[in-house]
Amino acid sequence: MQSHTPPSNLHGIVTNVATKLMGATSSNASTVSTEALAELVSYLDVDVSFLRHNDHKIRATVLVAEWPVRPYIPDPDPLHTIYFADADPIFAMAENAKEPVIVRPQAQGEDYRQRIAEAGGAPMISLATVPLLSGDVTTGVLGFVKFGDREWGEDEINALTVVATMFAQVQARTNIEEQLTYHAAHDDLTGLPNRRTLLAHLDDRLAAHRPGPVPVLLLSLGRLKSINDYLGHVAGDQFIQGFAAELRMAMDGLGLVARIGGDEFVAVPSETMDLAETRRLAENLTARLTEYVTIAGEVINRIVSIGVATGSPGRDSPSDLLRRADEALVSAKAARVDRIGVFSREMLARREIRADMELHLRHAIETDALTVEYLPEVDMPTGKVLAVEALVRWQHPTRGLLLPDLFIPVAESLNLTGELGEWVLNAACADMARWRANGVGFDTMLRINVSPVQLVATGLVDTIAGTLEKFGLEGTALGVEITESTLINDLISTRATLCGLTEIGIDIAIDDFGTGFSGMEMVRTLPVSTLKIDRGFVREIDTSADDLAIVRALIGLARALDLTVVAEGVETDGAARSLLREGCSRAQGFLFCRPLPAAATEQLLAQGSVATTVAT
Ligand code: C2E
Ligand code: CA
Ligand code: CA
Repeated sequence: MQSHTPPSNLHGIVTNVATKLMGATSSNASTVSTEALAELVSYLDVDVSFLRHNDHKIRATVLVAEWPVRPYIPDPDPLHTIYFADADPIFAMAENAKEPVIVRPQAQGEDYRQRIAEAGGAPMISLATVPLLSGDVTTGVLGFVKFGDREWGEDEINALTVVATMFAQVQARTNIEEQLTYHAAHDDLTGLPNRRTLLAHLDDRLAAHRPGPVPVLLLSLGRLKSINDYLGHVAGDQFIQGFAAELRMAMDGLGLVARIGGDEFVAVPSETMDLAETRRLAENLTARLTEYVTIAGEVINRIVSIGVATGSPGRDSPSDLLRRADEALVSAKAARVDRIGVFSREMLARREIRADMELHLRHAIETDALTVEYLPEVDMPTGKVLAVEALVRWQHPTRGLLLPDLFIPVAESLNLTGELGEWVLNAACADMARWRANGVGFDTMLRINVSPVQLVATGLVDTIAGTLEKFGLEGTALGVEITESTLINDLISTRATLCGLTEIGIDIAIDDFGTGFSGMEMVRTLPVSTLKIDRGFVREIDTSADDLAIVRALIGLARALDLTVVAEGVETDGAARSLLREGCSRAQGFLFCRPLPAAATEQLLAQGSVATTVAT
C-alpha cells in the first residue's frame, strides 16, 4: 500500500480512490474496495462505511466490503446477505434507489430510534447512502455511518456520487471478468463444469500426497443422435439439459459432475472408492437416471451407459484415468443387462488388439486373409434352409480367427468399411455362384450385412448390380441387411439406394429389429420387406414375459405391414416353440446350426435342411 499524506480536499480524495480502484480485478476487488473505504472513512471522519451489491435474482443486498472490518464476524454473518423482503427500511431502499439518501436522527421517528436501541446499535446515527447504478438498474449501495449527528454538504454528496460511479464500474468490470472465467470453466448448455475444470480437478485429486483410489464414472446418454435427427436440436438440447439436471441432483453433495462432450458426462465422487463401491454408485445412478422422458411430445426411453474406473494418486494421470473409464464405457454399451462397465486389465489387452488390428486390417483385406462363414436361416417345422447369412471372419496370423464385432469397428475407424463390404459381397457371391454351378442352393437366398457407411456412400446399387452380373446371379438371389442403428441422416439418399436395390429384386431386411430408436421410422419410410428380431428378445422368450410381449408386438407389426419376420439367436427348444406359437416360423440360431465355412455350407445346401426336433 502506498503511503502518502491524506489529501486535503474532496477533489484529492476522489482522485485517490479512482487511482486505487483502477487496479481492481475480480480477485482483488474486495481488498481494493476495503482500502478505498478506509481512505474515505478517514477523510470524511465517519465511523463505518460499507459497500453492498444487489443480487436482483434472489432479491437481496450482499456485503462486499466494510471499513473498519468488524473485529468479530459471526458465522453466518447476519449482515452478509440481507433479503429486501425482510430488510430494515434503510436496506430495503437499496433495492431500487436512484438518488443519494441522507438519514439523520432528528428526522426519524421514535419507533426507529427504539429499534436501533433494541438491536444494540448506537442510539442515534446519521447515514449517507449513494446508489451504484448501471443504466436503469441499481446494482448496489455505498454507505457511510456516523454515530451521532453529522451534516452532509452538497459537495460531499456530489463527490460520493462520483465515487459510487467508480465502484459501479469496478463491479461491472469484475462481473464480466467473472462471467468469462465461468464460461471458460463451464459448459454453456447445462452450466456444468466442462472438460477443462474436470481435468484440473482430477489433476489435484491424483497428486502424489492425496488419498486414493480416486473413482471416476463416465456416463453416456444414449439416443441423442437419433433425437437430434428426428426431433431436432432443440429437443436434443432439452434432452441433455434434463439429464444434466437429474445427474446433478443425484450426485448432489457427493462430488463433481462435468459435461465433457455432446452426450458424455463425468462424475467424480469426493470420497475415495474402490471399483466395487464405484460400481454400486453406478448402479444407483443407472436406476435413477434410466426412465421414460417426454421430449417434444415423444416418450423416449432414456438409456444411460456408465464406464467405471479408479486411479491411484501419484501414479495415474487424469488422461490415464479417463481412458480407462472410456474403455469401460465401451463394454458398458455392449452389456445388455445394466449397461455398466467396470475397467479391467482385459480391456487394456483389447485396446492392444485394436492397435495391432489397425496395423494389419488393410493388409488382411488386400491379401484375402478374411473369410466368410454362413449362418442358415431355416423354416423351423421342417428344418428347410431358406437362406444363408454371410458373416465375415478374419484369420489373424497370430491371434487366430477373429469375429466381426472385434474388427468391424476398427475398419470403420480406419475408413475401410467400403473395402471390407465389397470384399464380403464379392466373396459371398463367388461362393453362391460356385454352389449353384455345383447344382445346389437354387431356392436359397444369400443375405449380406451392409453397414450404414456403405448405405449412404454413392454407388452401392451399381456395385451390387455389377457383382451379381459378374457371377451370373439374379437380384432375387440376394438380400441385404441394414441395422436400426443406420442413422438416416440422409434419408433421401438412403431411400434412393434401397429403392434401387429393390428394383433389381433384392430383399431388404432390418437387422436387430427392436433395439434402436428408429426401427419404426425405417419400416414406415423405407422399402423394407423383412424384419429380423434381435436375438436379445428371442433368447429368453420362453421365460421372460416382457420379451414375449415385445416379440408378439413385433410379429403383429410385421403381419400388419405384410413383412417377412425372422427370429435371430434361437438357442433352445423352448424359444423355438414359443416363436412357433406366436406364428413366427423362420429363424436362425445355434439350436439349428452354427455359422459354417463355405464348403460345409455347400454340403448343407445339398441336404436342403437341418435336423429339427421342433414341433408345435
Ligand atoms: P448379426 O448380423 O446380427 O449376425 C448374427 C450374429 O449372431 C452372428 O455373430 C452369429 O454368429 C450370431 N448368432 C447367430 N445365432 C446365434 C445364437 O443362437 N446365439 C448366439 N449367442 N449368437 C448367435 P457374428 O458372426 O459374430 O457377427 C456379429 C455381427 O457382425 C453381425 O451381427 C453383423 O452385425 C456384423 N457382421 C458380420 N458380418 C458382417 C459383414 O460382412 N459386414 C458388416 N457390415 N457387418 C457384419
Ligand atoms: Ca445380420
Ligand atoms: Ca442381427
